[in-house]
This record gives sequence, C-alpha cells and structure tokens, in this order.
Amino acid sequence: MCRKAVTVRGPVDPAALGITLAHEHLLADFTCRYSPAADEAAIGDGLALSDRAALLRDPAGYRVNLLATDEAAALRECAWFAEAGGRTVVDLTPVGLSPDVMGLRRISEASGLNVIAATGFYIDSSLPAWVEGLSVDELANRLVDEIETGGAEGIRRGAIGEIAVESGSDVELRCIRAAGRAQARTGAPVFFHVMSGILPQFRDMTDELIGLYRAEGGDLTRLVLCHQDGSGIDPAYQERLLSSGLWLEYDTFGSEGVFAFGDTYIQLPTDSQRIAEVAALVAAGHIDRLLLSHDICYQTARRARGGWGMAHILTTLRPRFAAAGIDEGKLMHMLVDNPARLFAFA
Ligand SMILES: [Zn+2]
Repeated sequence: MCRKAVTVRGPVDPAALGITLAHEHLLADFTCRYSPAADEAAIGDGLALSDRAALLRDPAGYRVNLLATDEAAALRECAWFAEAGGRTVVDLTPVGLSPDVMGLRRISEASGLNVIAATGFYIDSSLPAWVEGLSVDELANRLVDEIETGGAEGIRRGAIGEIAVESGSDVELRCIRAAGRAQARTGAPVFFHVMSGILPQFRDMTDELIGLYRAEGGDLTRLVLCHQDGSGIDPAYQERLLSSGLWLEYDTFGSEGVFAFGDTYIQLPTDSQRIAEVAALVAAGHIDRLLLSHDICYQTARRARGGWGMAHILTTLRPRFAAAGIDEGKLMHMLVDNPARLFAFA
C-alpha cells in the first residue's frame, strides 16, 4: 500500500508533492516575540523603504513585521513560488502562532499549490492558558485528533510541529512527550523548533528532548530538527544526530539578519555558509536526511516587502548550490524526494 501525504485538500500521492518547502508560515501571528520599539508609532503599514530599514534593525519591535495574517499577501508569495516550479508548501504554524487551517485551505484552492498544515504547540510564552493545564495524554490526543479527523475544522493536518522548546519549561517538555506519543500513534512526521543549531549551549538540552520523544515511542526517522543552519561548525554534533536516524533541516535560507530571542538578537548565518554546510553533509553521505526551506516569518522576508521570499532557493540560490557541488539532481533530491518520503504516512 502506498502511503499518502495529507494536505488541506485531502490525502495525495507523495509523488504529487513535487518541489516542497518543508518549513514555512503562510498565515501566522508572531506577536509572542513582540518587544515594542520606541518609534513604533512612526511606522505605518511597514511598506515604505524607510520602514524596512527600521524593521530589519529591530524585527520584533514592530507589530506589523510580526503579523503574517493576510491571505492575499500569502497568495502573492505562493504565486512567485509556483512560477519558479514550486508545488507544495508545508505550513508549520502551531498553537501559539494563531494557526488558520481554513485560511490555508483557501490559499491552496486559490493558488493551486498543495498546502500541508500542521498541529502542534509553540514556545511556552506564546501558549494560551488552556494548554498549560493539559496532561501529556490530553496534548497527544489533540495532536492525534487533528491528524486523523481534522479536529474542529474537519481539515486533517499532515505533520506535527513545530513543537517549540526554548525555556525547557514543564509545559514545553510535556508537548515534546505528547509529540512522541502522537507520532507513534499516527506515523506523522514531527518537527522540533530548537535553538541548538545556532546556539551550542542548547545542544545538551536537545539530546534530552530527543530522549523524551523516544521514550514515548516516537520514531527517530520521522523526527526533524529545525533551524540547524550554522551547526556545521560542529560536525561531531551533526554526526551524532544523523547517526541516530533523524533529519536536519536547513530552513532559514534568505535570512541573513538577526532573530529576536528574549531581549537579545542572534546573528544568523549567511546563505553562503548554509550552502557550504549542506554541501559538506551531502559529501559525507547524508543527503537522505536533509530538508531545505526559508521559514519566512518576519514580513520583511517576503518578496512583496523587499525580501527574498519563498522562491529564493529555486531562483537566486540554484546556481550557488550548483557551484558548491550540489547539482540539480542533488538539489531536487532534497526538495522533492526527501519531502515525498517524509510526509507520506497516512
Ligand atoms: Zn521555528
């Protein structure tokens, strides 16, 4: 029996997914990261060039930069991606970032793209009060229900994630355990948002999270560690993770600026560094466990607002991958074959 991938318009043959971005946010509200800038009142719709300058310097300082809730804007980004040959977008927007699965279905219908929606829970500070009171079982039941029946909206989710851990609080760890249980019950792929790619001090905690997930029955070959861009400076860390069977995701292509983290900002790697690290992993024989995406969350990353947008890997970066030794076949292996394997579970 051929397993199907689950899109917002129903299960599809995985061969129909085509070029797939495994980690994006078409509709999401990132105001859990909001930390007001002194001059926020001076920013209008954030579309002026002078606004862009402010938004790039202080991404979480302006609400307008954190609100990706406009369907028409998401559709424009989808159109550019489709024009470049893209076929499927995975929206990993969990509870805490205002997931909108009905909106995702409308976007899928209007754009003609496959959209895979997810079920999950973001960092503790983003979560509504009702999540805090749920047991591991109750959390797992919700994940399973949204995958198997489509939950309240009746639209089945095709992935679990992104399950986010930053503080490592009790509720975040319960969500990790729930994800392991829900994975074992459904077979769905799981995405962990962890900081260990860019921040070495989070690597021990990531090992613990993987242990919790595994203890609940979660399959490591269905687990993706998100945001691993930059971790290539520590090949032993990457090798340890990959040898356990899980996936590494390079998912912030195009993002070369800063990411708001608590009251600080993290300088992100460059695309050149990402490509070099991916090329090294491919040369080391790990091509079957790599995913590529843009994880567009700040509005400034969108093409309509002057950013690189969702067609960046396919257009701007394609020749740069080739120059680094990742020819078209290898690139398509990571953008087509790998997602087709990972998302086929139903
Ligand atoms: Zn994330």
